[in-house]
Amino acid sequence: MKVVDTVAAMRDARRQAKGTVGLVPTMGYLHEGHLTLVRWARRQTEVVVVSIFVNPTQFGPNEDFDRYPRDPQRDLALLEREGTDIVFMPLASEMYPQGFSSWVDVEGITDRLEGVFRPGHFRGVATVVAKLFNIVEPHRAYFGEKDAQQLRVIQKMVADLNMNLEIVPVPTVREADGLAMSSRNAYLNPQERQSALALYKSLTLAQGLYAQGERDAETIRRRMIQLIEKEPGAKIDYVSLADPDTLEELDRIEGPALASLAVRIGTTRLIDNMMLGGGN
Ligand code: AMP
Repeated sequence: MKVVDTVAAMRDARRQAKGTVGLVPTMGYLHEGHLTLVRWARRQTEVVVVSIFVNPTQFGPNEDFDRYPRDPQRDLALLEREGTDIVFMPLASEMYPQGFSSWVDVEGITDRLEGVFRPGHFRGVATVVAKLFNIVEPHRAYFGEKDAQQLRVIQKMVADLNMNLEIVPVPTVREADGLAMSSRNAYLNPQERQSALALYKSLTLAQGLYAQGERDAETIRRRMIQLIEKEPGAKIDYVSLADPDTLEELDRIEGPALASLAVRIGTTRLIDNMMLGGGN
Protein backbone atom coordinates (compact mmCIF):
# COMPACT_ATOMS: atom_id res chain seq x y z
CA MET A 1 0.00 0.00 0.00
CA LYS A 2 1.41 3.34 -1.07
CA VAL A 3 0.74 6.37 1.19
CA VAL A 4 1.16 9.76 -0.48
CA ASP A 5 0.59 13.27 0.84
CA THR A 6 1.22 15.55 -2.12
CA VAL A 7 -0.71 16.12 -5.34
CA ALA A 8 2.45 15.42 -7.35
CA ALA A 9 3.06 12.07 -5.62
CA MET A 10 -0.60 11.10 -6.05
CA ARG A 11 -0.37 11.89 -9.78
CA ASP A 12 2.83 9.82 -10.06
CA ALA A 13 1.16 6.85 -8.36
CA ARG A 14 -1.89 7.30 -10.62
CA ARG A 15 0.28 7.25 -13.74
CA GLN A 16 1.74 3.91 -12.71
CA ALA A 17 -1.70 2.40 -11.99
CA LYS A 18 -2.85 -0.21 -14.50
CA GLY A 19 -6.56 -0.85 -15.12
CA THR A 20 -9.65 0.78 -13.68
CA VAL A 21 -9.26 3.08 -10.68
CA GLY A 22 -11.80 3.37 -7.85
CA LEU A 23 -11.75 6.32 -5.42
CA VAL A 24 -13.24 6.38 -1.93
CA PRO A 25 -13.14 9.91 -0.47
CA THR A 26 -13.25 10.03 3.36
CA MET A 27 -12.45 12.26 6.30
CA GLY A 28 -10.83 9.35 8.15
CA TYR A 29 -11.56 7.88 11.58
CA LEU A 30 -12.75 4.91 9.57
CA HIS A 31 -15.58 2.56 10.52
CA GLU A 32 -17.40 -0.32 8.83
CA GLY A 33 -19.37 2.16 6.68
CA HIS A 34 -16.19 3.50 5.10
CA LEU A 35 -14.71 0.00 4.82
CA THR A 36 -17.82 -1.20 2.98
CA LEU A 37 -17.19 1.51 0.36
CA VAL A 38 -13.59 0.29 0.11
CA ARG A 39 -14.76 -3.32 -0.34
CA TRP A 40 -17.14 -2.28 -3.14
CA ALA A 41 -14.26 -0.45 -4.83
CA ARG A 42 -11.98 -3.48 -4.29
CA ARG A 43 -14.53 -5.77 -6.00
CA GLN A 44 -15.33 -3.44 -8.90
CA THR A 45 -12.00 -1.81 -9.78
CA GLU A 46 -8.39 -2.87 -10.15
CA VAL A 47 -6.68 -0.04 -8.28
CA VAL A 48 -8.29 1.27 -5.08
CA VAL A 49 -7.47 4.78 -3.91
CA VAL A 50 -8.74 6.05 -0.55
CA SER A 51 -8.38 9.70 0.39
CA ILE A 52 -8.30 10.82 4.01
CA PHE A 53 -8.77 14.56 4.35
CA VAL A 54 -10.69 16.48 6.99
CA ASN A 55 -11.73 19.22 4.61
CA PRO A 56 -11.75 22.57 6.41
CA THR A 57 -13.88 24.34 3.79
CA GLN A 58 -16.94 22.17 4.44
CA PHE A 59 -17.08 23.07 8.15
CA GLY A 60 -18.82 26.22 9.38
CA PRO A 61 -17.06 28.56 11.84
CA ASN A 62 -18.96 27.11 14.82
CA GLU A 63 -18.73 23.47 13.75
CA ASP A 64 -16.50 20.63 14.89
CA PHE A 65 -13.50 20.92 12.53
CA ASP A 66 -10.97 21.21 15.37
CA ARG A 67 -12.35 18.37 17.42
CA TYR A 68 -13.27 16.09 14.51
CA PRO A 69 -11.84 12.65 15.49
CA ARG A 70 -8.59 11.67 13.81
CA ASP A 71 -6.51 8.46 14.01
CA PRO A 72 -4.40 8.13 10.85
CA GLN A 73 -2.30 5.19 12.09
CA ARG A 74 -5.37 3.09 12.83
CA ASP A 75 -6.95 4.16 9.51
CA LEU A 76 -3.86 3.04 7.58
CA ALA A 77 -3.82 -0.36 9.33
CA LEU A 78 -7.51 -0.89 8.45
CA LEU A 79 -6.99 0.15 4.83
CA GLU A 80 -3.96 -2.11 4.47
CA ARG A 81 -6.09 -5.04 5.64
CA GLU A 82 -8.73 -4.23 2.97
CA GLY A 83 -6.15 -4.40 0.20
CA THR A 84 -6.12 -0.67 -0.55
CA ASP A 85 -3.51 0.26 -3.17
CA ILE A 86 -3.03 3.97 -2.58
CA VAL A 87 -3.91 6.27 0.34
CA PHE A 88 -3.90 10.00 -0.38
CA MET A 89 -3.70 12.05 2.82
CA PRO A 90 -2.75 15.64 2.01
CA LEU A 91 -2.36 18.54 4.43
CA ALA A 92 -4.85 21.41 4.12
CA SER A 93 -2.02 23.61 2.76
CA GLU A 94 -1.54 21.12 -0.10
CA MET A 95 -5.22 21.24 -1.11
CA TYR A 96 -5.71 24.97 -0.40
CA PRO A 97 -2.41 26.74 -1.01
CA GLN A 98 -2.06 30.49 -0.51
CA GLY A 99 -4.24 32.36 -2.99
CA PHE A 100 -6.72 29.53 -3.60
CA SER A 101 -9.91 31.14 -4.95
CA SER A 102 -11.93 28.78 -7.16
CA TRP A 103 -15.12 27.11 -5.96
CA VAL A 104 -17.75 24.67 -7.25
CA ASP A 105 -21.28 25.79 -6.44
CA VAL A 106 -24.10 23.35 -7.13
CA GLU A 107 -27.21 25.51 -6.99
CA GLY A 108 -30.77 24.59 -6.04
CA ILE A 109 -30.59 21.30 -4.17
CA THR A 110 -27.92 22.74 -1.86
CA ASP A 111 -30.40 25.36 -0.57
CA ARG A 112 -32.48 22.72 1.20
CA LEU A 113 -32.11 20.37 4.21
CA GLU A 114 -28.43 20.37 5.27
CA GLY A 115 -27.84 23.52 3.23
CA VAL A 116 -30.20 25.52 5.46
CA PHE A 117 -28.35 24.56 8.64
CA ARG A 118 -24.83 24.38 7.21
CA PRO A 119 -24.48 27.33 4.81
CA GLY A 120 -21.44 26.87 2.55
CA HIS A 121 -21.08 23.20 3.48
CA PHE A 122 -21.83 21.80 0.03
CA ARG A 123 -19.64 24.38 -1.68
CA GLY A 124 -16.76 22.99 0.38
CA VAL A 125 -17.79 19.40 -0.37
CA ALA A 126 -18.26 19.90 -4.12
CA THR A 127 -15.00 21.82 -4.42
CA VAL A 128 -12.87 19.26 -2.59
CA VAL A 129 -14.50 16.33 -4.40
CA ALA A 130 -13.96 18.03 -7.78
CA LYS A 131 -10.30 18.53 -6.83
CA LEU A 132 -9.98 14.87 -5.78
CA PHE A 133 -11.52 13.77 -9.09
CA ASN A 134 -9.03 15.94 -11.00
CA ILE A 135 -6.06 14.71 -8.97
CA VAL A 136 -6.92 10.99 -8.89
CA GLU A 137 -8.83 10.71 -12.20
CA PRO A 138 -10.82 7.67 -11.03
CA HIS A 139 -13.13 5.65 -13.29
CA ARG A 140 -15.51 5.19 -10.37
CA ALA A 141 -16.02 6.97 -7.05
CA TYR A 142 -17.93 5.52 -4.10
CA PHE A 143 -20.27 7.52 -1.86
CA GLY A 144 -22.50 6.43 1.02
CA GLU A 145 -26.28 6.80 0.89
CA LYS A 146 -25.93 7.78 4.57
CA ASP A 147 -25.19 11.29 3.25
CA ALA A 148 -28.13 11.31 0.84
CA GLN A 149 -28.03 14.99 -0.06
CA GLN A 150 -24.25 14.94 -0.52
CA LEU A 151 -24.62 11.99 -2.89
CA ARG A 152 -27.14 13.95 -4.97
CA VAL A 153 -24.98 17.07 -4.99
CA ILE A 154 -22.03 15.03 -6.31
CA GLN A 155 -24.20 13.30 -8.93
CA LYS A 156 -25.50 16.71 -10.08
CA MET A 157 -22.00 18.19 -10.23
CA VAL A 158 -20.73 15.24 -12.29
CA ALA A 159 -23.69 15.49 -14.70
CA ASP A 160 -23.64 19.30 -15.00
CA LEU A 161 -19.87 19.57 -15.47
CA ASN A 162 -19.54 16.45 -17.69
CA MET A 163 -17.06 14.82 -15.34
CA ASN A 164 -15.93 11.57 -16.86
CA LEU A 165 -16.54 9.00 -14.12
CA GLU A 166 -19.25 6.88 -12.57
CA ILE A 167 -20.63 7.65 -9.11
CA VAL A 168 -21.48 4.47 -7.20
CA PRO A 169 -23.94 4.85 -4.27
CA VAL A 170 -23.42 2.39 -1.38
CA PRO A 171 -26.24 1.55 1.09
CA THR A 172 -25.99 2.80 4.67
CA VAL A 173 -24.17 0.53 7.12
CA ARG A 174 -25.75 0.42 10.59
CA GLU A 175 -24.86 -0.75 14.08
CA ALA A 176 -26.72 -3.86 15.29
CA ASP A 177 -29.44 -1.70 16.88
CA GLY A 178 -29.94 0.42 13.76
CA LEU A 179 -27.85 3.55 14.45
CA ALA A 180 -26.17 4.61 11.21
CA MET A 181 -22.40 4.36 11.56
CA SER A 182 -20.68 7.72 11.68
CA SER A 183 -17.31 9.02 12.85
CA ARG A 184 -19.31 11.51 14.93
CA ASN A 185 -20.89 8.69 16.98
CA ALA A 186 -17.58 8.75 18.90
CA TYR A 187 -18.77 12.02 20.51
CA LEU A 188 -21.77 10.31 22.18
CA ASN A 189 -21.71 9.33 25.86
CA PRO A 190 -23.63 6.13 26.75
CA GLN A 191 -26.84 8.00 27.53
CA GLU A 192 -26.64 10.01 24.29
CA ARG A 193 -25.83 6.83 22.36
CA GLN A 194 -29.20 5.50 23.56
CA SER A 195 -31.03 8.74 22.61
CA ALA A 196 -29.39 8.66 19.18
CA LEU A 197 -31.51 5.63 18.33
CA ALA A 198 -34.46 8.02 17.92
CA LEU A 199 -33.25 8.83 14.38
CA TYR A 200 -33.44 5.21 13.25
CA LYS A 201 -36.70 4.61 15.12
CA SER A 202 -38.39 7.60 13.51
CA LEU A 203 -37.28 6.49 10.05
CA THR A 204 -38.58 2.95 10.58
CA LEU A 205 -41.81 4.47 11.93
CA ALA A 206 -42.09 6.45 8.67
CA GLN A 207 -41.49 3.28 6.66
CA GLY A 208 -44.12 1.45 8.73
CA LEU A 209 -46.73 4.18 8.20
CA TYR A 210 -45.95 4.22 4.49
CA ALA A 211 -46.28 0.42 4.34
CA GLN A 212 -49.72 0.73 5.98
CA GLY A 213 -50.79 3.04 3.17
CA GLU A 214 -50.27 6.48 4.72
CA ARG A 215 -49.57 8.94 1.89
CA ASP A 216 -49.99 12.29 3.66
CA ALA A 217 -46.45 13.56 4.18
CA GLU A 218 -47.34 15.92 7.03
CA THR A 219 -48.93 13.09 9.03
CA ILE A 220 -45.73 11.06 8.73
CA ARG A 221 -43.51 14.05 9.58
CA ARG A 222 -45.62 14.79 12.65
CA ARG A 223 -45.38 11.22 13.94
CA MET A 224 -41.59 11.24 13.42
CA ILE A 225 -41.27 14.55 15.28
CA GLN A 226 -43.43 13.28 18.17
CA LEU A 227 -41.22 10.22 18.55
CA ILE A 228 -37.99 12.25 18.59
CA GLU A 229 -39.34 14.90 20.95
CA LYS A 230 -39.91 12.18 23.57
CA GLU A 231 -36.17 11.55 23.67
CA PRO A 232 -34.34 13.55 26.36
CA GLY A 233 -31.58 15.77 24.96
CA ALA A 234 -32.72 15.44 21.33
CA LYS A 235 -33.23 18.65 19.32
CA ILE A 236 -34.54 18.52 15.77
CA ASP A 237 -32.92 20.58 13.00
CA TYR A 238 -35.28 19.17 10.37
CA VAL A 239 -37.49 16.21 9.56
CA SER A 240 -38.14 15.96 5.84
CA LEU A 241 -40.16 13.94 3.40
CA ALA A 242 -38.92 15.08 0.04
CA ASP A 243 -38.82 14.25 -3.63
CA PRO A 244 -35.67 12.09 -3.93
CA ASP A 245 -34.46 13.98 -7.03
CA THR A 246 -35.24 17.63 -6.32
CA LEU A 247 -35.29 17.32 -2.49
CA GLU A 248 -38.41 19.51 -2.46
CA GLU A 249 -40.81 18.83 0.42
CA LEU A 250 -43.83 16.71 -0.47
CA ASP A 251 -47.50 17.13 0.47
CA ARG A 252 -48.78 13.83 -0.88
CA ILE A 253 -46.49 10.90 -1.44
CA GLU A 254 -47.13 9.70 -4.95
CA GLY A 255 -43.79 8.31 -6.11
CA PRO A 256 -40.81 7.31 -3.94
CA ALA A 257 -39.98 9.72 -1.12
CA LEU A 258 -36.76 10.37 0.78
CA ALA A 259 -37.31 10.54 4.52
CA SER A 260 -34.36 12.36 6.08
CA LEU A 261 -33.57 14.15 9.28
CA ALA A 262 -30.93 15.97 11.30
CA VAL A 263 -31.08 15.84 15.08
CA ARG A 264 -28.74 17.24 17.70
CA ILE A 265 -28.10 14.88 20.60
CA GLY A 266 -26.42 17.06 23.20
CA THR A 267 -23.67 18.78 21.19
CA THR A 268 -23.51 16.07 18.50
CA ARG A 269 -25.35 16.63 15.24
CA LEU A 270 -26.45 13.40 13.54
CA ILE A 271 -28.14 12.81 10.16
CA ASP A 272 -29.85 9.76 8.69
CA ASN A 273 -32.32 8.84 5.94
CA MET A 274 -34.35 6.06 4.37
CA MET A 275 -36.35 5.73 1.17
CA LEU A 276 -40.10 5.19 1.30
CA GLY A 277 -41.08 3.17 -1.75
CA GLY A 278 -38.50 2.32 -4.42
CA GLY A 279 -34.75 1.89 -3.85
CA ASN A 280 -32.42 4.59 -2.58
P1 AMP B 1 -16.99 10.85 5.86
O1 AMP B 1 -15.66 10.31 6.31
O2 AMP B 1 -17.99 10.98 6.94
O3 AMP B 1 -16.84 12.08 4.98
O4 AMP B 1 -17.60 9.73 4.90
C1 AMP B 1 -16.89 9.27 3.76
C2 AMP B 1 -17.81 8.46 2.89
O5 AMP B 1 -18.30 7.34 3.64
C3 AMP B 1 -19.05 9.24 2.43
O6 AMP B 1 -19.35 8.87 1.10
C4 AMP B 1 -20.12 8.76 3.38
O7 AMP B 1 -21.42 8.85 2.85
C5 AMP B 1 -19.71 7.32 3.58
N1 AMP B 1 -20.28 6.80 4.83
C6 AMP B 1 -20.17 7.33 6.07
N2 AMP B 1 -20.88 6.61 6.97
C7 AMP B 1 -21.46 5.61 6.27
C8 AMP B 1 -22.34 4.53 6.62
N3 AMP B 1 -22.75 4.34 7.87
N4 AMP B 1 -22.74 3.70 5.63
C9 AMP B 1 -22.33 3.88 4.36
N5 AMP B 1 -21.52 4.87 3.96
C10 AMP B 1 -21.08 5.73 4.90
